Amino acid sequence: MSSPRLRFAPSPNGRLHLGHAYSALLNAEIARALRGDLLLRIEDIDPARCRPELTDALVADLAWLGLTFPEPVWRQSARMSTYRAALDGLRQRGLIYPCTCTRREILAAAGEARDPDGAPLYPGTCRGRPLPDTPHAWRLDMARALEVCPGPFTYSAFAPGEPGRVCTADPARWGDAVLGRKDVPTSYHLAVVLDDAAQGITHVVRGQDLEAATDLHVLLQRLLGLPTPRYHHHGLIRDAAGDKLSKSLRSEALAALRERGASAAELRARLGFGMDEGEARQPLHPTPP
Ligand code: GLU
Repeated sequence: MSSPRLRFAPSPNGRLHLGHAYSALLNAEIARALRGDLLLRIEDIDPARCRPELTDALVADLAWLGLTFPEPVWRQSARMSTYRAALDGLRQRGLIYPCTCTRREILAAAGEARDPDGAPLYPGTCRGRPLPDTPHAWRLDMARALEVCPGPFTYSAFAPGEPGRVCTADPARWGDAVLGRKDVPTSYHLAVVLDDAAQGITHVVRGQDLEAATDLHVLLQRLLGLPTPRYHHHGLIRDAAGDKLSKSLRSEALAALRERGASAAELRARLGFGMDEGEARQPLHPTPP
């Protein structure tokens, strides 16, 4: 079996806040328990929102928390040719099609149907149309994909200290998801499955807000012949009675907390992580959604 390898994969489109700190520290704790490695991956595919200075700032924030990572740190913005090649392969197999629809057109045509993120479910308007000579996205032809890979789709979920369990994925609920954006030859979904495989990630630890996305990721892994890691979708940091994390604190940047005099040790303890390297850690059980 390959040695355990995890990744923390933030997008540098804003400063890190307490939710990121929790996810990063939990990744580190699980990596340590599994005697595995934890990589940092910068998910900066969005040229309009991701800025290099925010990447530098997040590396500094993580170092302040006590987290450093092996080099080289992958940046998705440097991997566009790999993503383009994967899109070309899917295109040659007739599994994606170009789409010129605007958000407004999709909203008007989708009716009530929504994807698991709450976005209008794409009604397939551009399916079967010829290649346009205007900028276009690339969408997965979900019906064809399910013909090629009929399922059932399962993956293993794990949680610290608990027996693993098998989850059933239902990728169809994402419909014809975007795999290549108008501005870059990938989307979050395509880049994340390609990079998890290319980096040999065995355990993915990320928030419950991405749990539904895993259904689509499992299908993409099958279509692309990639392994499926194990997944742990952790609870999100929420306001709770008792050891309260107020809304403003939860969304406040780590840098602002630091400037107000918080120490990294206090933050770690507050999030339920021990302060001493050798100490057994008591992970926080965040409030379920
Ligand atoms: N880049 C994503 C985010 O910042 C996380 C991706 C992942 O962990 O799969 O929300």
